[in-house]
Amino acid sequence: MNLNKNYENLEQSYLFSTIAQKVNQFIAANPDKKIIRLGIGDVTKPLCKAVVEAMHKAVDEMSVQETFRGYGPEQGYDFLRVAIQNYYKKRNVELELNEIFISDGAKSDLGNILDLFDKDNTVLVPDPVYPVYVDTNIMNGRKVVFANANKENSFLPLPDKNIKADIIYICSPNNPTGAVYNKSQLKEWVDYANSNNAVILFDSAYECFISDSDLPRSIYEIEGAKTCAIEFCSLSKTAGFTGTRCGYTVVPQALGKLNKMWLRRQTTKFNGVPYIVQRGAEAVFTEEGMKEISVNLTYYKENAKIISETMKECGIWFVGGEHSPYIWLKCPNNMTSWEFFDYLLENAQIVGTPGAGFGKNGEGYFRLTSFGSRENTIEAMERFKKLFV
Ligand SMILES: *Cc1c(COP(=O)(O)O)cnc(C)c1O
Repeated sequence: MNLNKNYENLEQSYLFSTIAQKVNQFIAANPDKKIIRLGIGDVTKPLCKAVVEAMHKAVDEMSVQETFRGYGPEQGYDFLRVAIQNYYKKRNVELELNEIFISDGAKSDLGNILDLFDKDNTVLVPDPVYPVYVDTNIMNGRKVVFANANKENSFLPLPDKNIKADIIYICSPNNPTGAVYNKSQLKEWVDYANSNNAVILFDSAYECFISDSDLPRSIYEIEGAKTCAIEFCSLSKTAGFTGTRCGYTVVPQALGKLNKMWLRRQTTKFNGVPYIVQRGAEAVFTEEGMKEISVNLTYYKENAKIISETMKECGIWFVGGEHSPYIWLKCPNNMTSWEFFDYLLENAQIVGTPGAGFGKNGEGYFRLTSFGSRENTIEAMERFKKLFV
């Protein structure tokens, strides 16, 4: 028995454990101070009523002989795939049902999709980056190159003709930066991918935070994308499904063999998402569900606005915060990410996430999130202004 040696090439991530350690030390030394966490990378609002009712009903169905369900289709029930097909139709994106695959979330699919690609492919990921893209490729022994996202390009890197990549990751609206590509920028990536016979793995987990109808929520809103892009989406951030687990991946027929290969991969290694969860997911796409989730999304977006307005008042450079729950700011006074982390914790008891934890271009930057409560967000920003206005 030999081990997969590629695992030895993974970099140990100390980001969240170091944050926890520093916060615990501070609390031990200052038990009377109130900490406000604006580093939360998870939703906090409960599931909406339409979802809960649909899941209760599905549980009842499972308890009755006539309506009990065992294994479902690996690629998801038609009722949910049709709901997603209609969701795309509203944005003038036409998908075939057999191009839509239901999964237990975007993270699993983003990792699993790599089963379909050769080890010798070169992978292009933005830096800073959602760590899953890098680590899943290192586990497979694939070469990873980086596209620099920085202040000069507003954290939205565009293709470099001199770099030959086969697999390209794009996340828009972005985690960790909150930056969003517009249509003409995404078109550049689509053209680059089509002319290099490359595939784009497009992560649209935060599409529901986009409120400007001119900004693309799906890569298929861009002409030519169906011949070069696979799209990953999830109900995690859309409808608070981080603990409930349901996502979907679109593999267009125009990508050739990839659609059949993904079906084969899923039917071999996956047995589908629970019926109860898929009924809950279906309810998200109803008129009622959409109305209810938008209340939560608006709540997060208003928090983001409170944070970004504060950054403006303090004269701090930032991206994100408008079509995203994330605000990515330049640390004031040229502090490093960790210096700023310590400074905020000591002087305002605010906890955020040091940008350096997301890649080398993240050094000197800091991520705040809007998943906290309104009350805490307001209080944190008042403390922030005392330090920087
Ligand atoms: C939260 C998140 C996801 C969603 O992952 P799930 O597995 O569906 O919960 C995907 N991509 C990014 C960048 C995320 O931040």
